[in-house]
Amino acid sequence: MTVTRTLCPYCGVGCGLEALPAPGKSTSPDAASHTWIVRGDRAHPSSHGMVCVKGATVAESMGKDQLLHPMLRQRLDQPFQRVSWETALEHICDRIRTVQQTQGADALCMYGSGQFVTEDYYTAQKLMKGCLGTNNFDANSRLCMSSAVSGYVQSFGADGPPCCYDDLDLTDCAFIIGSNAAECHPILFNRLRKHHKRHPHVKLIVVDPRRTPTAEVADVHLAIRPGTDIDLLNGIAYLLLHWGYDRPEFIQHHTTNFAACAAVVQHYTP
Ligand code: SF4
Repeated sequence: MTVTRTLCPYCGVGCGLEALPAPGKSTSPDAASHTWIVRGDRAHPSSHGMVCVKGATVAESMGKDQLLHPMLRQRLDQPFQRVSWETALEHICDRIRTVQQTQGADALCMYGSGQFVTEDYYTAQKLMKGCLGTNNFDANSRLCMSSAVSGYVQSFGADGPPCCYDDLDLTDCAFIIGSNAAECHPILFNRLRKHHKRHPHVKLIVVDPRRTPTAEVADVHLAIRPGTDIDLLNGIAYLLLHWGYDRPEFIQHHTTNFAACAAVVQHYTP
């Protein structure tokens, strides 16, 4: 039986999937996708065979009203008719040209999917900026990551998340602040939770005003008042300095302007 290893297309966790033909069904390219079975890939390094409901139902969702050919309707109250690729592309080009000529290039925009990869972004931007002459291109992956990225750059000097999934199996203490990972990132959270359950010394601390499913399984749930997270973090920094838990060598080699930070946190007694 041929098993194709692939990735879940939905979110950035990037769970590994295996696609294989359902027993006794046709797998020709035109066959509806319910002839395939999709399951978690146990050998995949991020997900270890686990998938959430979205990944587990990839094959079903592909089978429902999937667009297989270009379809066109001249008016909203008319039914769609199947057309050739040439006709569809000609129609799209005509409409774009009309907008460009009557309203200017800036009347065009493209909002890209978070599922674009770097090469997709490059091509889409070339099309919009280089060919069509508009600057109006953006994607939800940039908008939803922009606050995280600016935080990473300010805190760590680079815009990549600074940890890796393997850390979830190694940590002695997971500190989760402002995230309901159990519901928003179930696969990653399950991985951490397995490690947490298996090792009684591992502590899970959750900071969230709400008693979320993540908070429910924590060893310590700090249900702070909304808007007091910076006070909490500065208070922890105050205690670490007060108890002498800072590492001068690390501070000297890997941080800048530490004295200013220490001056601020000295106002945050518990
Ligand atoms: S967490 Fe769910 S949606 Fe995200 S990659 Fe994994 S299976 Fe797909």
